[in-house]
Amino acid sequence: FSDAIDTEDAEADSIGAANTYVVANHYNELKEAGRKERHKSKIFYMRNFNNWIKSQLINEYMSLIKHQKRLGESLRVLDMCCGKGGDLLKWEKAAITHLICTDIAEVSVDQCQRRYQDILMRAEKSKFGHKFTAEFFACDSTLVRLRERYMDASLQLNLVSCQFAFHYCFESQAQAECMVRNAAECLQPGGFFIATIPDAYEIVRRLRAAGPDARKFGNDMYSIEFEEEINNLPLFGAKYQFRLEGVVDCPEFLVHFPTLVKLCRKYGLQLVRRTTFADYYAETLAQGRQLLQRMSGLETVHVQRCGDDQQYEHVRKAFGTHRSRPLGTLSKDEWEATTLYLVCAFKKCKNSWDT
Ligand code: SAM
Repeated sequence: FSDAIDTEDAEADSIGAANTYVVANHYNELKEAGRKERHKSKIFYMRNFNNWIKSQLINEYMSLIKHQKRLGESLRVLDMCCGKGGDLLKWEKAAITHLICTDIAEVSVDQCQRRYQDILMRAEKSKFGHKFTAEFFACDSTLVRLRERYMDASLQLNLVSCQFAFHYCFESQAQAECMVRNAAECLQPGGFFIATIPDAYEIVRRLRAAGPDARKFGNDMYSIEFEEEINNLPLFGAKYQFRLEGVVDCPEFLVHFPTLVKLCRKYGLQLVRRTTFADYYAETLAQGRQLLQRMSGLETVHVQRCGDDQQYEHVRKAFGTHRSRPLGTLSKDEWEATTLYLVCAFKKCKNSWDT
């Protein structure tokens, strides 16, 4: 990567959001797979594993937030780039009070809203369900100031979550600034911004391992392909094409982590966690064992820190098979795809100079 950025110059940077339309079209055209199709998917176990990681992350930071609050105080969450609402049940389980869901893909936002209505109806019928209010709108979080679209522009959030999507904003500095400001500006001091993103260092490491002139690497599940040679990557707009078996075929951008930290600091967000999926799995398995068992249907084994292959073996056994797929388990290819990612968390400080 080239040298660190001067974040003061962000406004001067051109928007350069050429790829957001491509991304929005891609997600708008994605068909919603039914339960049967999902169970047949080649990335069935990887999806479950990713969902488990998201649950662990959400639980970790919701617990910290609840710790700061008195019983009965409201809990407000922004799900930025919410997609079709894959995390709605997690928000229900976290017993939040209000949720804001936004995504660039209108079709996804509509599906998300319908899922929410279903959850609400179910909660009304069952004494175990939890009801929460929600608002939905489609917009580009890298170009639009989200607070202006909230029902209450003075709303204070406790948590902002951006799952598997933040990297799209690293197309240009102006877009990254806009997205970080959206994450930060309505967060209460003490609140958190949490995200899952591809690990740029891991991507570059795997590309280098593929050969000195390699532009592409991957396996049967996923591939990453750069158009340009990678010796002088820019801090923003370091574009590659990401393909994931039957789900994603989209341009994405490397997130240079020190630059992200610097941008966040400008908006009062202090880095509190940066952990690869592999390490987060090892760190949180003890607390998430039961959930993992429910998601995968088998006993988990104790995981120890060890090299890639050994750790995969642990995960494979831990993940086990699923009732609907008695002959399957998380494949090595899926493990390689999921270990491209990292979780990160930032805490909102009272003043930006506190960071
Ligand atoms: N967060 C959801 C989840 O974890 O299930 C969806 C993740 S999906 C991989 C990425 C999502 O980011 C898509 O729904 C896409 O439409 C959305 N997205 C991409 N660029 C965006 C942008 N500039 N503004 C808002 N949403 C965007």
